[in-house]
Amino acid sequence: MRYDDSPPPPESASSISPDRPWFARRPALAVALAALAPTCLAGWVLTQVLAGPGSDAPQPAAAPLAASSPAAAADAKSSAAASTPPAPQPAAPAKGPLTGRTVVIDPGHNTGNFKHGREIDQQVDIGTNRKECDTTGTTTNSGYMEAEFSLDVSHRARALLEAKGAKVVLTHDGDRPWGPCIDERARIGNQAAADAVVSVHADGASAGNRGFHVILPARVKAGAADTAKIVGPSRDLGERIASNFARATGSSPANYLGSGTGMVVRDDLGGLNLSTRPKVFLECGNMRDEKDAAQLMSPEWRQKAAQGIADGITGFLGG
Ligand code: ZN
Repeated sequence: MRYDDSPPPPESASSISPDRPWFARRPALAVALAALAPTCLAGWVLTQVLAGPGSDAPQPAAAPLAASSPAAAADAKSSAAASTPPAPQPAAPAKGPLTGRTVVIDPGHNTGNFKHGREIDQQVDIGTNRKECDTTGTTTNSGYMEAEFSLDVSHRARALLEAKGAKVVLTHDGDRPWGPCIDERARIGNQAAADAVVSVHADGASAGNRGFHVILPARVKAGAADTAKIVGPSRDLGERIASNFARATGSSPANYLGSGTGMVVRDDLGGLNLSTRPKVFLECGNMRDEKDAAQLMSPEWRQKAAQGIADGITGFLGG
């Protein structure tokens, strides 16, 4: 947003004369503020309507009163207090079947990775190997980034899981310029003592390759990597996510790997090798296939994808 989009401050819009003494200006200021308050309230109501249930993305909470100076804010607040709706409060954690459970959602990549090649190319230790800190991820042919997709689906899944009472931790929330590195992504799940971790991705295979697949940790033991305890529960988690994802989205298991099962086991992913908590990756579709891309770019489809993920996790956790 550009600064010059903002409306002019109320003082400049009023007819207050600057050469009148302060006590003579008070009534004029009060009148101006009294006139301002309903205008702000109307703006607030309009903002609420525009940010209502029809909106695709979560909206930031609207300020109940927009004022251009602290003094005006305080004055407008007191004069309009009686008629101003209460400020939106952060919702108390919902009680539900997942109360007491922790889920970590790892939005794959980061939209800033493209601009930080040097940082994300640095090698990190994944136990079995050394590997790049992170990668850029792929895009659709029209430029919709995998990192944008993964963060959006993660937000939607978080909302669904929180509504069931889960504590949900994201490994990042678009709040850093790049990364985190794959070893840190694993560490966040471990340190949260997550009951389940899912890393959200979309694939970048050639056109004609379609469908989703879940990546499960292989049994590895080297350096800091030891997946013996998570191989079994991760498969259970992955199978539940795959079946719920297929039901919720109507998508089919990938036609280009996994022999049509939608399940693949890999030993080369640091995010899995370093995890001590049940964890899977989900490749929701192929961004390079036009038909899959049309789904991945649809907010309605992404909501279904998030529902499938949340339902799979809920089933795994016995909720
Ligand atoms: Zn990816």
